[in-house]
Amino acid sequence: MSQEMSFINKAKKVFFRKFALPRVKGVYALENSVKDIENSIIFSDESEARFDIPIEFGRREGVEVPLTSVTIKHILTCIKNMKRAIFDLKNNPINPRNKIDKEELEELREYVKTVEVSAIGFTKVPSNLIFKNKAIAFENAIVLAMNMDNDIISSAPNRLSLKNVWYTYDKLSVASNKIARFLRKKGFAAHASPPLGGIALYPKLAQNAGMGEFGYSGLLITPVNGPTLRLAAVYVSAENLPMNEVNEHSWIRDYCDQCRKCIKECPPGAIYETPIEHETGRVTHIDNDKCFPYFGNNYGCTVCIKVCPFNNVDYYKLKENFLKKQKS
Ligand code: SF4
Ligand code: SF4
Repeated sequence: MSQEMSFINKAKKVFFRKFALPRVKGVYALENSVKDIENSIIFSDESEARFDIPIEFGRREGVEVPLTSVTIKHILTCIKNMKRAIFDLKNNPINPRNKIDKEELEELREYVKTVEVSAIGFTKVPSNLIFKNKAIAFENAIVLAMNMDNDIISSAPNRLSLKNVWYTYDKLSVASNKIARFLRKKGFAAHASPPLGGIALYPKLAQNAGMGEFGYSGLLITPVNGPTLRLAAVYVSAENLPMNEVNEHSWIRDYCDQCRKCIKECPPGAIYETPIEHETGRVTHIDNDKCFPYFGNNYGCTVCIKVCPFNNVDYYKLKENFLKKQKS
């Protein structure tokens, strides 16, 4: 490594450890304070501890923090919006509405498009999907998905793909707070949950909301844009959201059984054929301890997203052809 590179890496580490990490920890303390709000929904004994990427960067040696001047700007916006999500709770109406009508739902669907959210789904949040020590203000979730740029992600891992990941986090952080404000203006109480960190297990919430299914890659695969997206949520006092009840995407697991592309292509071999069962009963094919160092040292990796055949396809055509083949 050249002297210049080694200086840049040291500077990044100092920025991260002395500036970004303390701020992120401050936001986590704020998040934990939601437990003190009356009637908030609190984590359960079966809840998992969150795999906190910033904390992991802080505690692991030999893993570079994938930062560039552009990503630093996006990270700072994300931190600002995580704080805002908690501070804005004080703006919730004292007697919020708990019923949303059809027209308002339609307005919501239209509004989310204006803040570039690609898809939404609705589900109740069970307490075991809230991370340890966290809480949410309401159990009714509007799950948000925002597409990343397929062309850029197809070149991952590089500076551009890293930038696109952070760009999407940034935009979705802003969008989640804007959607919460939109709902407050209509008389509902809302709790924005931006994409970074996440108070609840977003991919599982999105699956429950009927937005897609987990692939072997541990990513949510959706009809909107395959796995090339980021997730967030807004928890809201409206209790009559059209909650999803069916999973039309469970066939994806059978597709994965035959595909296994992410298993073959994952550079450090962090996606296993045989799933690992966590203490909480959650089953996954991903070994975080193998993924994380590669992820850190290679621009946030993203190879499992780029190689998935659900990118740039007509999802419904793919489903039809696959199910036809299965029957024949
Ligand atoms: S991010 Fe990279 S290292 Fe991690 S599971 Fe995906 S392909 Fe493997
Ligand atoms: S690459 Fe193949 S096996 Fe991996 S998640 Fe996508 S469809 Fe499933």
